Amino acid sequence: MDLARLKERLRAEVEARAEVLVAASHQIHEHPETNYQEHFAHELLTDLVEADGLPVERGAFGLDTAFAARAGDRGPTVAVLCEYDALPGIGHACGHNIIATAGLGAGLAAAALAREAGGRVVLLGTPAEEGGGGKILMARQGAFDGVDAAMMVHPAGDDLARMDAIAVQELTVSYDGEAAHAAAFPERGRNALDAAVLGYLNVAALRQHILPDERVHGVFLEAGEKPNIVPARTVTEWMVRSRSIATLVPLKERVAACLEAGAAATGCAATLSWKPVVYADMLDNEAMVALYVANAAAAVGRHVAEPHAGAAVVGSTDMGNVSYLVPSIHPMIAAAPSGVPIHTPEFAQHARSASGDRAVIDGAVAMAWTVADLWLGDGVLESVRNEFAATIARVGPEARQSATQPPPGA
Ligand SMILES: [Zn+2]
Ligand SMILES: [Zn+2]
Repeated sequence: MDLARLKERLRAEVEARAEVLVAASHQIHEHPETNYQEHFAHELLTDLVEADGLPVERGAFGLDTAFAARAGDRGPTVAVLCEYDALPGIGHACGHNIIATAGLGAGLAAAALAREAGGRVVLLGTPAEEGGGGKILMARQGAFDGVDAAMMVHPAGDDLARMDAIAVQELTVSYDGEAAHAAAFPERGRNALDAAVLGYLNVAALRQHILPDERVHGVFLEAGEKPNIVPARTVTEWMVRSRSIATLVPLKERVAACLEAGAAATGCAATLSWKPVVYADMLDNEAMVALYVANAAAAVGRHVAEPHAGAAVVGSTDMGNVSYLVPSIHPMIAAAPSGVPIHTPEFAQHARSASGDRAVIDGAVAMAWTVADLWLGDGVLESVRNEFAATIARVGPEARQSATQPPPGA
């Protein structure tokens, strides 16, 4: 099939499903579910895939709320990813209802024409982006084996070619000391709150001497019960972020030393528990980014810009880990007025608005067209693959392995 003709037919396939996609976006928005609890969204999305005539694997890759649906019998395999988890307390403030339904639209449109066009598509439902690392666990079960390229769109306040996604690992620290009456027998106490405070201050001092784009932030979860009882136990929680999964390793060691020193100073014991998933930085495949940018302009009239001072989204995503396995993109699609940041109640409202609904349909068409380029574009897949091989050679095979393997000590 001719590429231009395929693109127009893909647009029609998305538009034929527009009402269903927007209704699903609203329903997911109205039922916010956090990490690995996305049963409503999983049911809704898999039912819609099945109703479209596509077999779907529910609870895929050992995760109750993941799914996979495949179409096509030859040619390159392109994965389109759907996220659908929400944030505690503020609902769909990251707009994953838009990610889910833009992905559904692109995936179903591509599936409808896959055999005829000579390409393959796999629609993946990926739970728990907000800290649970769903894509990482899926990758460990082979979700990306045989995939030639992967894509998703994430809503934001602007149309951006990429998110500035850096590596992150989360850490919980508990300090155990000795309780005592703080007035009668203070000498018998070992103060776990002092340990936590000193650890916190050590990290504050460390911040002056880390790289400019590294981030360490922590909160106190348990900090004692009553002033006249020497606190015997405290718990703090941390996120440690660095430019790449490789540069994160030495930073983690320095942060751990700071936090352990608080225990040493106070005669307490520190227990550090790193989360068993590390979010990798995003290795955007520039050849694919260029295709998406061109398609968003040509198909739906969106000017997709490079991040700049007024508009950039710095954060982390488990799509970064996918990008170490297969050529990947994670563009941002405007669903709210410029400058409205994600993870705010205000953004949650825009995620279910006319502009949010437009992002669902536009994102679906722009991705479907990008799938078409990967299937049929002259030399496209080859340049995507060559760039990916060069990128992996640059980051090294060890970094690539650490993107999916359980981190040491976890
Ligand atoms: Zn988020
Ligand atoms: Zn998000």
